[in-house]
Parts: sequence; C-alpha cells; structure tokens
Amino acid sequence: MNMDSELQKHYAQLLGIGSPWEVKAVELKLLEKQVVIELGWQWGADAQCPECGRACSIHDCAPERTWRHLDTMQFATLIRARTPRANCSEHGVKTMAVPWAAPLGRFTLLFERFALDVLLASGSVSQACELLGIGWDTAQDFMRRAVERGLERRQLEGLKHLGMDEKSFRRGQSYITLLTDLEASRVLDVVEERTAEAADQLWETLSPEQKQAVEAVAVDMWEPFIRTIQKQVPDADIVHDKFHVSKYLGEAVDKVRRQEHKELMAQGDETLKGTRQLWLYNPQNFSPEQADEFSVLKDLQLKVARAWAAKELFSKFWEYHEAGWARRFFKDWFGWVSRSRLKPIIEVAQMLKRHLDHLLTYLKHHITNAVTEGLNSKIQSLKAAARGFRNFRNYRIRILFFCGKLNLYPL
Ligand SMILES: [Zn+2]
Repeated sequence: MNMDSELQKHYAQLLGIGSPWEVKAVELKLLEKQVVIELGWQWGADAQCPECGRACSIHDCAPERTWRHLDTMQFATLIRARTPRANCSEHGVKTMAVPWAAPLGRFTLLFERFALDVLLASGSVSQACELLGIGWDTAQDFMRRAVERGLERRQLEGLKHLGMDEKSFRRGQSYITLLTDLEASRVLDVVEERTAEAADQLWETLSPEQKQAVEAVAVDMWEPFIRTIQKQVPDADIVHDKFHVSKYLGEAVDKVRRQEHKELMAQGDETLKGTRQLWLYNPQNFSPEQADEFSVLKDLQLKVARAWAAKELFSKFWEYHEAGWARRFFKDWFGWVSRSRLKPIIEVAQMLKRHLDHLLTYLKHHITNAVTEGLNSKIQSLKAAARGFRNFRNYRIRILFFCGKLNLYPL
C-alpha cells in the first residue's frame, strides 16, 4: 500500500502534474508490455472553464480517454483519465483542458516533444515513425502543429538580406518558389509555382514594417521575380546572383563546345572528345593529369577555349569595389565578347547588359543565393527520403519543419 502511493507520487512527478490531478493507480501489464497510469481529479475540487479559466462546479466527467506517454523502459506507457466538465455560468458545460496534452491530442506533450526531437535527428519521417512506433499521419500531424506554433512565435525583426529562388517540385515543369533569410540561413516560406502571383503571395509572410527593413534581395534574372520584388520592397536593391551568372556562362561554354565538337567530328577530328568536364570545372580543382591535358587544349585556337576565357575573365567583375570601375570593365568585356562571334556567349552577355544595374548592386551587398542553394539540397534530400509528396501542403510543412529554424516545441 505504502509502496503504491510512493510509485503514484513518483509518476505524478514524472508527468509534471499536481493537485487537484492525482495518480490514482499504476498498472503494469506484463503481457501487453504496457504501463497504464490512471489519473483522477480530486474529489471536491472545483473545475476550471477552458474558455475563461473561472472556477466552476463540476457538471460531470467526460468519457475515459487514453493518451500515449513516453515509454517506461521498453513498456509503452499510457495515461488514462476522465476529465471533469466544468459548468460555467457564461460558457456552459465545457470539458476541461488537461495540462499533459493538447486538446484532442492522443499523445502527451512530453511524448510530442520527444517525437519532434527524433524527427529532427533522424531527418527521415519513415525512420522516425518506426523508432517511435507511430503512423505517418501522426508524424505529419506533429510536424504541422509544430510548424504552426513556430510560425506564430517567429521573430522577423531586422531582416536585411533575403533570397528568392525557384526549385523543381514533382517531375516535369513543376516548380516551387522559396523566400529565404540569407543571414540566418532559414526558409521563411514557400509557395507553389514560380509566377509573379505566387511570388507576391510569398511576401505576405512579412508585415509592412518587416518589408521596409529589407535592404537587398538576391535573385536570378527571372522577370516575374524581379517585378514582384520591385513592387513589394521598392526600396530594396535587387542583386543578381553571381552563381546564377556563372551557371549561364558555363552553359554557354558547353553549347560552344558541343557545336564545335560536332564540326570537328565531321572532319574526323576527336580533339574535343571527352573534354566536357574540363571546360566546366574550376581549374583549381584539376588533378595533375587534367591540368596537363587542359593546358594543351587551351592553346589550340579552339572556339570553346575563347568562350571559356570569356567566362573566366568575367569573374573579375565581382572583385571590384567601385561601381564605376566595374561598369568600365563590363564595357570592355562586352565589347570583346561581341566581336567573338560566339553566339551562345554573346546572348548571355546581352542578358547581363540588360541587368547590369542589378549586377553592380552585388559590389555593395555581397550577397548570393548560396545559402538558398544549400537549403535547396537539404530540401532535395527531404524529397528523396519521402519518395515524393502527396501534396504541396505536406511538402511546405516538411520544408518549414526542417529548414525554417522555428521554435517547434509544445513546451
Ligand atoms: Zn467560462
């Protein structure tokens, strides 16, 4: 008898409950590998209205419910209780809130907190489900509630540098658009599609004051995004990303190589065979053999060598401190490229010229979407682990759960 009441006190402490809740019984079910803790409301204590917190008389008790709690050793631990229903003079008969669980939740808050830790640590929902012995829908539910809590608590004061970028969603021409906080490396929100309307919607996650604080946005040369940024944060600088620029130039070099390779092969010349990577890699990462091979290729008066040189030369642009000097450099570079007769490179140069003002802003802010790209690969791994998502809403929750740096916990 004495032992029992010690055990009951012990469990009350573990659960963090106190008077008028009390542990009535602890039952160990060896065969089912369960511990069942029965909780009760002390006789004679007033109930509390869940709406206004007023002390009320007890109308009756709700039917018995069961919550899953943190396991005790290898025993699944369940809490069982009948919750009093308060008779409030203002709100009528209401079932009281319980301190150990969210309304309608089937798990205790401590279990939920632990589940969030397991989800975050394993990075894979199916693996976490297996470890916790819960279903996919329950995990999704935990994550949805956690993200809702996190968004409500989120502090967005002092946002300065943002990034906007697209990412492919399902197979095919399906995209999502991300808004990221470049300084804190976190995803602020994500929407379906990559249209101006979709991007507009993204900005709704910020208040007018928060938008006013934004100094610059890193973004690709994608017209719908540019228009949205000009409309939503007119005082912020648009900064075209140097990684995107480098990607466009790289693709142009590759186009020149393919065309030239075709021409050479038609004459039985295999000079460019198997050289694709050499023109795309950073020469600093070459092996000694690759460096030798490349130094020979570079001096062969090839069109692709000139295209490559144009791309390499452009990287100097980002090193200027003064916009005036950078502008002059660009003029020279553009003139040289224009005379090169390398159509793919000329096309990129013309695009850069149209966007020059938004390239020069880089020299002031030094921001890129590298952070966003990093988050992108994390998002990619979420997608791979989940083998596709049933719908976008679940995907958004998953992204904000793992990449939003939110305060997710229920307690
Ligand atoms: Zn009330």
